[in-house]
Amino acid sequence: MEIVKDYDLSELNTFGIKAKARFFVEIKNELDFNELLKTREYKDNQKLFLGGGSNVLFTKDFEGIVILNKLKGIEIIREDSNNVLVKAQSGEKWHDLVLFAVKKEYWGIENLSLVPGTVGAAPVQNIGAYGVELKDTIESVEFFDLESGEKKNLSRDECKFGYRDSIFKNELKGKVFILAVTFKLSKIPNLNVTYKVLKDYLEKNKIEIQKVKDISDVVIAIRQSKLPDPKILGNAGSFFKNVYVSKKNLEKIKEKYPNVSFFEEAGVIKIPAGWLIEECGWKGKRLGNVGVHDKQALVLINYGGATGEEIKDLALQIIASVFDKFGLKLTPEVNLI
Ligand SMILES: Cc1cc2nc3c(=O)[nH]c(=O)nc-3n(C[C@H](O)[C@H](O)[C@H](O)COP(=O)(O)OP(=O)(O)OC[C@H]3O[C@@H](n4cnc5c(N)ncnc54)[C@H](O)[C@@H]3O)c2cc1C
Repeated sequence: MEIVKDYDLSELNTFGIKAKARFFVEIKNELDFNELLKTREYKDNQKLFLGGGSNVLFTKDFEGIVILNKLKGIEIIREDSNNVLVKAQSGEKWHDLVLFAVKKEYWGIENLSLVPGTVGAAPVQNIGAYGVELKDTIESVEFFDLESGEKKNLSRDECKFGYRDSIFKNELKGKVFILAVTFKLSKIPNLNVTYKVLKDYLEKNKIEIQKVKDISDVVIAIRQSKLPDPKILGNAGSFFKNVYVSKKNLEKIKEKYPNVSFFEEAGVIKIPAGWLIEECGWKGKRLGNVGVHDKQALVLINYGGATGEEIKDLALQIIASVFDKFGLKLTPEVNLI
């Protein structure tokens, strides 16, 4: 374990923003972490745990210590004829865990194929895609409490998962280091293909699902056709969350915009943030080094050389114009640092 000073983070965030960490360290196992806990650099500074950097926007240099998480390992801790409990260390790549499940023919996380980032960050925002959320399969989260220095566990209910939300974004924000996550996966086929885009793709291409891999392959194909690759165009996926509206408010919006896009999920009505942004004329718009993706209005882009402040300014302009037009407030999904 080596602590480095003034470390360039541009390769460690998918926006490709050039920001520096005052101190930087990579931890590969619990021994590294225990050693880190004894250092002055750790004790005296603000901490930022970083996984794949695919959900952060550095708006300035980080004047503390950035801890890059490389804790690895996936193990089966219990199984019966129907289910299996799989525990993954937090520094594992999320998609590698999906591939593990696909290979073993375990159902539950295949719709979340190719979501970038690490297992440890996945509960932070309760990652979701194609009709499935992390909370649907999670059993428990093991974490290190930065205040007490103890290892603790939270059950799924205690994690207070919501839409792109959890206790780790609220009460426990900045107070924990997630060490491992345990999932309950199904050995019995348990497909979820109700999400429209997925359903349409399967019908159009006459695909019959037989194995976990069949869904995973379809999700990968859809994602690759829609989302820009951060290695080519810096981005952090969806920048904003979809917006909740009451039935009454939706009716009001419909009077002025009869074509308003909306959907109901778990009893609440949401308007896709991408639709709102597109309606305000932002889709494909470029302002200097930054812009809004031309295929997906939810994705903000660093065309090269942008600062985090430039992306943040663009986000603020978008929030203001959506509010002016619809009276609705967009909230960022990305963590602004
Ligand atoms: C092209 C693209 C597509 C995407 N598609 C989706 C999608 O479909 N669905 C979706 O939900 N998200 C999506 N995202 C967002 C992103 O992939 C997820 O939020 C992912 O979980 C972030 O993982 P990460 O390891 O990169 O987190 P980071 O960006 O490294 O960290 C995110 C936050 O979590 C904290 N954190 C990270 N690790 C830990 C830890 N071990 N303990 C405590 N806190 C921690 C960080 O401090 C930070 O606040 C997409 C991003 C991109 C770039």
